[in-house]
This record gives sequence, C-alpha cells and structure tokens, in this order.
Amino acid sequence: MSVQAILVTGGAGFIGSHYVRTLLGPHGADDVRITVLDKLTYAGSLTNLAAVRDSSRFHFVQGDICDGQLVDELVARHDQVVHFAAESHVDRSIRHAGDFVRTNVAGTQNLLEAALRYGTDTFVQVSTDEVYGSIEAGSWPETSPLSPNSPYSATKAAGDLVAMAYYRTHGLDVRVTRCSNNYGPHQFPEKMIPLFVTRLLDGAKVPLYGDGGNVRDWLHVDDHVQGIELVRRGGRAGQVYNIGGGAELSNKELTQLLLDVCGDGWDSVDYVADRKGHDRRYSVDCTKITRELGYRPARDFETALAATVGWYRENRAWWEPLRKRAGAIA
Ligand code: NAD
Repeated sequence: MSVQAILVTGGAGFIGSHYVRTLLGPHGADDVRITVLDKLTYAGSLTNLAAVRDSSRFHFVQGDICDGQLVDELVARHDQVVHFAAESHVDRSIRHAGDFVRTNVAGTQNLLEAALRYGTDTFVQVSTDEVYGSIEAGSWPETSPLSPNSPYSATKAAGDLVAMAYYRTHGLDVRVTRCSNNYGPHQFPEKMIPLFVTRLLDGAKVPLYGDGGNVRDWLHVDDHVQGIELVRRGGRAGQVYNIGGGAELSNKELTQLLLDVCGDGWDSVDYVADRKGHDRRYSVDCTKITRELGYRPARDFETALAATVGWYRENRAWWEPLRKRAGAIA
C-alpha cells in the first residue's frame, strides 16, 4: 500500500480539524499521513486536534500560508495539498477585508506556486457556495458565473480563479469544492449555529439579522468532509464540485429549531439591523458530485442539529475560552 503525504492547511479550524480527525480516526484511512499547517489565528485551536495528537501519522506545524520559505519546505515533502486555511467569517470581512485578501488570495497563490514548483500530485481548493452569490429560485450548477457579494466570498472566488488558472496555464491538478453552510461540533462560536446555541445555553438573547428570511442550505461537517475525500480520491483535475444537499432553511426557521432544542421561546430573540449586503439565498446543484462520485449526505438535519447542541452543552470547556479571546466575537 502506498502512503500519501497530505499537507492540510487550516487543519486546526472547524472543518479542517474534522477532516484530519476523520482520516486519522478509527474508521479513517490507513494510506495517508498528514501534516497540518496552521497559523492558529483566533479561529484555530490545537484542542481541535487533541484526538490525533499522538498518532504517528500526524504532524503539526504552526505557520502562515503566506510564508514562502515555510510553504516551499512543506509542499516539497508532501504529495498532495488539501487547502482549508482561510479567513472565514463574513461579518469580519465587512470590517477587515485586508486580512481576507492576504490569506484567501495571496496565501492560496503562494501554496499553488509551491505546488507547481515541487510537482504536487493533487491540490484540493476547499471553497464555498457563496462565490456564486444570491439566487432567488433554483440552484447554481458549477458552470454558473461567479458573482460574490461580500469581501469574504469575493476573496474565496479570487482564490478559486487563481487555482483554476494554475490548472489551465500549467496543468497543475487542481480540484475545487464549493460547499454550503456547515454545522457540527468544534465550530467557532461566532458563526450562527454555535453563536445562538452558546448564547441560549448561557440564558442570553440571540441576534437575528433583518427579517430572518435569508435562506441557507445547512450541511453537517461530516458530510462535507466525505465529499472532499471523494473529490481528493476520485475527482478530475481542473473540475469544480458543488457539495450540499443538507437542509434548506430560512434563518427564522433555523432559529425556531434551535429554540425548540434549547427549550427557549421567541423572547430570547433580538431582531437586529441586517448585515450589509446580506445575500438572500444560496443554493448549489449537487448533481455532478452525486453522478460522478456517488456523493450522498448521510445525516438527518434535525437529529444531527440536536446532537450538535448536545455537544456544545457537554463541551463548555471548549467554547468558553474561545469566546473570551480578545476580539473573538464579531
Ligand atoms: P475556520 O475559520 O474555523 O478555520 C480556518 C483555519 O485557518 C483556522 O485554524 C486558522 O487558524 C487557519 N488560518 C487562517 N489564516 C491562516 C493563514 N494565513 N495561514 C495558516 N492558517 C491560517 O474555517 P472553517 O469554517 O473551518 O472553513 C474552512 C474552509 O472551508 C475555508 O476555506 C472556508 O472558506 C471553507 N468553507 C467553510 C464553510 C462553513 O460553513 N464554515 C462552508 C464552505 C466552505
């Protein structure tokens, strides 16, 4: 059996750490060893990787994907790159877009350049459905033009375009995944579901943007990770794969479910001024990954949401210090 050496960027964050724990866990893959490269920004935490810390197939490097020398050294020693590292919170991008351009665009290009220089076999660019922009009805297929609206989604779209340019210009095996909104354990408590759950668990009010009518497709992080693995192992070079198919809900509907699970009422909700440029609805068409790679989300939304709330209830020791980090909550 040949063992693939994978460089996972952003592996101390929410989705990247789930990916690493899955691959190195008891039901994972024997044919990989993983190095995580992570800057440990406010969003990254080594506690997310505690479960794999002692694995002989795991190695951690603290560093920045924009650091040319470090990235060169690491990429040279690995067969594949799975690129999660990003500034990922839309609200922060509205206030500090510069950090997003630096990491999501320049950092991505730095990794691609090293991948080209050292002959990386496969480069998976983990991206988001937000690059397509808002859609009133129907769903975006991969061929849709990109029309991002927030600084976050614009920088992710830019990263995707640069990645595809390395495929088209140089023939680098780049595969792009674009996933809908994720939820699950270990998500930083500034994103909607963990923000609402941790506030409700504290007996505090939750802030609902605008009229609560914005619609998102919610996918459990485990289903996202399974989709990324299908693309890494069986996807085609130069192809984009949408990943989604969780549960499509308005923020108001999601709030109702969270209130129900937490045993609270609408008096725990504050309607707040809408987010600037708030996209009304995202929806991706997942026909391609389903047909080509047999992707199928396995989690039932309401069951997995209740389990996620249970995880936050049981793991105060994980999220309380994160909420106290200076400037952590947008
Ligand atoms: P996250 O914010 O939880 O984690 C990001 C990680 O990247 C952190 O560990 C952080 O320390 C690290 N990082 C940030 N800047 C870095 C840099 N310059 N160098 C090295 N490491 C750096 O994000 P997430 O929610 O886990 O998202 C991971 C990826 O998935 C992102 O690319 C995001 O765009 C994409 N994505 C997220 C979602 C979602 O719902 N969360 C949906 C679709 C796609």
